[in-house]
Amino acid sequence: MTFADLGLSDELMRAVDEVGYSEPTPIQKQAIPSVLMGRDLIGIAQTGTGKTAAFVLPMIDILGSGRSRARMPRSLILEPTRELAAQVAENFEQYGKYHKLSMALLIGGVSMGDQVKALEKGVDVLIATPGRLMDLFQRGNILLTGCALLVIDEADRMLDMGFIPDIEDICSKLPKNRQTLLFSATMPAPIKKLADKFLTDPKSIEV
Ligand code: AMP
Repeated sequence: MTFADLGLSDELMRAVDEVGYSEPTPIQKQAIPSVLMGRDLIGIAQTGTGKTAAFVLPMIDILGSGRSRARMPRSLILEPTRELAAQVAENFEQYGKYHKLSMALLIGGVSMGDQVKALEKGVDVLIATPGRLMDLFQRGNILLTGCALLVIDEADRMLDMGFIPDIEDICSKLPKNRQTLLFSATMPAPIKKLADKFLTDPKSIEV
């Protein structure tokens, strides 16, 4: 199976080709077609399996078509650490180089002013750590009611870091009628419970 078999757009395949990937990884083969079809997904996968592209690639195509003029963010990727969030943002820019999507990276340790300015201009994608996202939300800088696509990445690390209450809070602010993708290296009971509560009829993939 090649990238061309997965249903991705020509622009996206061009970007992937330029990054130098010749073939999708197992998680990409299994995840990309069902994410493009709009299904919720639980991906049990370690870092190193290509899981970031498994959600970023279909997200770009979902957002790239049907672009709204609304200034509200349309999608949200939650990461447990600044480093992971920054890495996902870098991948997003590489894979999305032929799409005109705008992105804001909302992480701690950098000035809120620049993040607020980016939000005011309007963005398609938020890539955030839960703490900074909640801070900006509580200050009234973000409206999450347009986020119809949510990724919870590294859910087990979120649990270890005590972020589950924040994630529950964030999920409750997003529209109910949304697509949710959850990735975790392991599936401890609290993550299973989170998935049961916030995902709808998810496809499960384990690699
Ligand atoms: P991840 O599991 O998302 O952290 O990805 C691990 C590494 O695999 C990253 O350095 C990616 O650039 C790389 N990668 C992702 N997809 C592919 C692919 N289809 N072929 C080769 N390398 C890939």
